[in-house]
Amino acid sequence: MGATLNLARATPAVAAAPVNLSGLTREGLARAFVEAGAVPADKARMRATQVFRWIHHRGATSFDQMTDVAKDTRAALAEHFTLARPEIVERQVSTDGTRKWLIRTAPGIEVEAVYIPDVGRSGALCVSSQVGCTLNCTFCHTGTQALVRNLTAAEIVAQVQVCKDDLEEWPSDREDRRLSNIVFMGMGEPLYNLDNVADAIDIISDNEGIGISRRRITVSTSGVVPELKALGERTQAMLAISLHATNDDLRDVLVPINRKYDIAALMDGIRAYPGISNARRVTFEYVMLKGVNDSPEEALALVRLLKGIPAKINLIPFNPWPGTPYECSDWATIERFAAILNKAGYSSPIRTPRGRDILAACGQLKSESEKVRASVRRKAEALASG
Ligand code: SAH
Ligand code: SF4
Repeated sequence: MGATLNLARATPAVAAAPVNLSGLTREGLARAFVEAGAVPADKARMRATQVFRWIHHRGATSFDQMTDVAKDTRAALAEHFTLARPEIVERQVSTDGTRKWLIRTAPGIEVEAVYIPDVGRSGALCVSSQVGCTLNCTFCHTGTQALVRNLTAAEIVAQVQVCKDDLEEWPSDREDRRLSNIVFMGMGEPLYNLDNVADAIDIISDNEGIGISRRRITVSTSGVVPELKALGERTQAMLAISLHATNDDLRDVLVPINRKYDIAALMDGIRAYPGISNARRVTFEYVMLKGVNDSPEEALALVRLLKGIPAKINLIPFNPWPGTPYECSDWATIERFAAILNKAGYSSPIRTPRGRDILAACGQLKSESEKVRASVRRKAEALASG
């Protein structure tokens, strides 16, 4: 399953890989069509909407399917661009219906995406934003994998497409949709890849295509405070914060980015998040670690900390992974913790672990992709596509 690059074959003089149109917004499509000389400028917007609908409403994977686009335009598009889906390296289905895909988007670039039924309105897809992570939260499996690179918008959207292919959810306006929500809670820190995450959200939420409303898209961050405002302004997505501790000493250990942006700075950043209100609450994620952060005193401290912020609290039973030093809190301890929060007026559902048997639960994701020099990888990617 591990990704291997045959470096001996990598030679410098190779053409760049064709742009995958799945990662372009409608405006981006129009620009790309004109720049490539595939569509005249005065037709670009109309063509862009037409092609966008084929890709994101119908799920087209080939230009030949676009029967209302003239043949020569289709040929011009196919010459410059691609609609190819990534390779699915592995597909697993949990006993509880959770599905996990290991997706190879390019040589050495493997990410996981997880579909969880009966979450949100009808089901949520947990997408990855990076391969690996630069942060090293000590309880997180992804944190043990060095960052390989940011995912492109196309690679983020591709995870949604793979899920929709598998659920047979094309066209996108089907009544019985099982994919209703998107959560950026897979591998990586989305706020370190904000440009591509924001483009992907523009694409996924566009009503001409997949049409998942921004209010059903949640971005989870470990607390990259300087990017919070931009996230809210650019995406209008729902915000989730991986809090996990109520004092800096402990959070410094569990979520080391806290040494850079401490709890006070984080809370200030959250209060300033555009658009928060009682109807649009911030979700605080709190992983339950036995004997580490699960005492009644900490539940009370949490209540004090969140005062004045429209919040809901998600208690996540710790999901173990091979080699972890942590254990999950006992069920009774989690319930006692939740009761204190409920008494203070917070909705604090305990997130039932899903897909644990296939290592698909929160924080268990990790691919075998390893860091190779960017220059070497680019050559290999270009080789593979050429
Ligand atoms: N990097 C982002 C988003 C991905 S992690 C972030 O940290 O918010 C998604 C959620 O899973 C986070 O709240 C994270 O803290 C939590 N998580 C990580 N490892 C976990 C584990 N082993 N068990 C339970 N939750 C975990
Ligand atoms: Fe990265 Fe989030 Fe895991 Fe921390 S919890 S290591 S930020 S993916």
